[in-house]
Amino acid sequence: AGTVTVQVRVAQVGPRHLLVLAEDRTQARRVEEIRRDFAVNVSHELKTPVGALALLAETVEAAADDPEAVRRFAGRMQGEAARLSTLVQEIIELSRLQVASAIQELVPIEVDGVIEESVDRARVAANAKHIVFEVGGPTGLHVFGDHALLVTAVRNLLDNAVAYSPAQTRIGVGVRLVDGLVEIAVVDQGIGIAPEDQERLFERFYRVDPARSRDTGGTGLGLSIVKHIAADHGGDVTVWSQPGQGSTFTIRLPEADAAHAPRATSTITP
Ligand code: ADP
Repeated sequence: AGTVTVQVRVAQVGPRHLLVLAEDRTQARRVEEIRRDFAVNVSHELKTPVGALALLAETVEAAADDPEAVRRFAGRMQGEAARLSTLVQEIIELSRLQVASAIQELVPIEVDGVIEESVDRARVAANAKHIVFEVGGPTGLHVFGDHALLVTAVRNLLDNAVAYSPAQTRIGVGVRLVDGLVEIAVVDQGIGIAPEDQERLFERFYRVDPARSRDTGGTGLGLSIVKHIAADHGGDVTVWSQPGQGSTFTIRLPEADAAHAPRATSTITP
């Protein structure tokens, strides 16, 4: 028999009245709720850049006879448009991952190739801050899954490491094989994450410092995407961090030498 979870909420609605709400939260309801919350969050998150664009457009119009101001505001509009575009892409990616496994076919993937491509793509942002990548560990390992999705996951960790690290630091990408699991660890010397935030990082739209995340072009969806991709590959992602010293994010995936591939699972999770 399944377990039924009932959540009870009590609110004082008048001097002598209590409102008691008992809610059945079984799986189906929960999935529905996750979808609804996601839709609410999405519309809320979209309103910010759209509002900023509208305001900037008005400002440009008002400043029409000041070419310098027009150029400046047009530049900010481009920035907002770029952010909006990333946000829309990530929302699409995450909704795809939330409904069902995005992996079409589980084939052996070379871990080296995934890391090489992720590092290549993250290099432009890293170079701008004189941050160096150091890749180490055994080569020739394989995992079952989808190359492009794995690149998206590792790339998200690298982009975060760059975004939340000071200039002229190092980012390590370490590969290890532990008990049949391939570990890909991204180690930075950045700002770190407080223990109370570490638990919530993988939630959609969760940001430790929304203002800072906005400045770095963050959407708050990156780690949620990483979590879904890792789960789709039969693995997980964890964080270790010391505020002020740095963070290590580790993706663990079953090594692909086993006789059977992991089953792709649906990952509708909070
Ligand atoms: P964002 O798009 O804001 O980076 P993510 O889901 O990728 O969203 O990350 C969520 C939050 O976790 C970030 O806003 C940031 O506060 C924190 N974070 C993620 N990676 C790191 C890191 N390497 N160092 C410090 N903080 C990080």
